[in-house]
Amino acid sequence: MMEADVVVVGAGAAGIAAGVTLAEAGKQVIMLEKGDKFGGAGMFGAQGLFAVESSQQRAAGVQYSLKQAYQELVSYTHYRSNLNLTKAILKESASTIDWLDERGLKTELVNNTQEVHQQHPKVYHQYIDKFAAFDRLIHRFKDHGGQLLLKTAGTKIIQKDGNIVGVQVHQDKHDFVIDCSAVVVADGGFIGNPDLVKEYLAINPDNLYSMGERKATGDGIKMLAELGADTRHMGVFENHAASVISPQNHKWHNGTIFSLTNLPFLWVDSAGNRFVDESVCYDFALWGNATYTAGGYYYIILDQQFVDYISAQSLDWTDSFERTFKSLDHQVMTHKVGPFPQIDADLEEAIQKEAGWRAESLQDLAQQLHVSELDFENTIKQYNEHVDKKEDPDFYKSSDYLRFSIRKGPFYALKARSTSLGTIGGIETNAKMEALKVNKQPIKGAYVAGNDASGMYDTSYPTLEGISCAFAWNSGRLAGKSVIKYLGK
Ligand SMILES: Cc1cc2nc3c(=O)[nH]c(=O)nc-3n(C[C@H](O)[C@H](O)[C@H](O)COP(=O)(O)OP(=O)(O)OC[C@H]3O[C@@H](n4cnc5c(N)ncnc54)[C@H](O)[C@@H]3O)c2cc1C
Repeated sequence: MMEADVVVVGAGAAGIAAGVTLAEAGKQVIMLEKGDKFGGAGMFGAQGLFAVESSQQRAAGVQYSLKQAYQELVSYTHYRSNLNLTKAILKESASTIDWLDERGLKTELVNNTQEVHQQHPKVYHQYIDKFAAFDRLIHRFKDHGGQLLLKTAGTKIIQKDGNIVGVQVHQDKHDFVIDCSAVVVADGGFIGNPDLVKEYLAINPDNLYSMGERKATGDGIKMLAELGADTRHMGVFENHAASVISPQNHKWHNGTIFSLTNLPFLWVDSAGNRFVDESVCYDFALWGNATYTAGGYYYIILDQQFVDYISAQSLDWTDSFERTFKSLDHQVMTHKVGPFPQIDADLEEAIQKEAGWRAESLQDLAQQLHVSELDFENTIKQYNEHVDKKEDPDFYKSSDYLRFSIRKGPFYALKARSTSLGTIGGIETNAKMEALKVNKQPIKGAYVAGNDASGMYDTSYPTLEGISCAFAWNSGRLAGKSVIKYLGK
């Protein structure tokens, strides 16, 4: 029989933060990880986390206060978020940077990674040597007596007379129960579960390209829901930019097509209409939100004149991901794209991969895209007029980006789809990270953290850089501290 004071379900950033906090306090902790590796999205995907008033920000003279961060975040959510939780997370964020640093996950305060955030005070603390750093955290956990069970999934929380008494787990075709008095559920939400995505995210899963944790299939949310937890706000996910993908092979990548996706050309929705100032691509969250609102996908429209141009010359626009890849790596930004001498072959490859289309006429392209020919032709005509006049009365795109009209065939379309880093709506919680019922009463002994927890966001994830990782680490630490108090009673 296995027993512990507390079982942590999931060994991503949130679970590790909770586990280390608890083990250091002398609690007996068993951390479950469904996969054969720990770390989750915070390790394989993320590059860094948000903090406010950190020691690094103070040393760098960054003028950005807890009050400013709080006000920025709650105005983004229109106060339709849990304000106590928001405040608690932001307040914890500075100490978490030092806490991680002391335990071997060092970070470096860098310029914000998105083009339109360059005037915003620096908030992004980039991981240094993250894979080794996550290893060090797990060693720390084990050095303090913590047990990590890999390839072991939590499947059910067992409650008796209103108290948590165990967690049922599945390991290597066997099911058994770990006796415990408290549980922290931190298994990453449900982006890896297409049925739940379809049910809660109001998007056809075919139009949603997930870069998130595939093993996050909603187990923890289901386990807490069985105890009566409030799941009414599950329908929130991290919309992050948009991607041109091949339905044949999601791993397909073509550098030219990737760059073309990250630039403000003409975009039309599934009805053939323009829907946004395309320079929204310089803010990943807003770009993602506009794509989602357009129905989950749109088409990037190009003509042969542009293709000829970019095959021979560079364009003085910034690839919206250039900063992420170059400046985080301390390379100099070029603020240029192209030339792409192979663009004909690149477009042909996209067409073969069912991610692109080519047509001799606009009518033919409209037919291939199944959009209204009339609407599509009107959209092009109107856009061309905007380019000629260098003015966009529809969506106010800057004249810098009104450069390429669509006049010379053949014409091309690339399909960009909603892209997600994970779900961020789950179980209602409070500033102690207790799992709450609909009446806001806590489920005794049950805590929730990271992508399993609701409350920090309204309808979408905000543009503050690194906020989701910050939420994972900080909510995990807060959950750990709350469990220590709970067990101390
Ligand atoms: C590509 C990518 C880039 C990103 N970049 C950033 C960034 O730069 N900054 C930022 O702030 N955020 C970023 N994010 C988001 C951020 O990484 C996540 O929001 C955060 O890491 C979530 O942490 P978590 O611990 O809640 O969940 P996860 O990291 O998903 O961890 C959950 C863990 O639980 C395990 N698990 C699942 N089910 C069970 C079960 N039943 N039993 C036991 N274990 C289970 C999973 O295998 C996983 O290891 C990025 C995400 C991705 C995908």
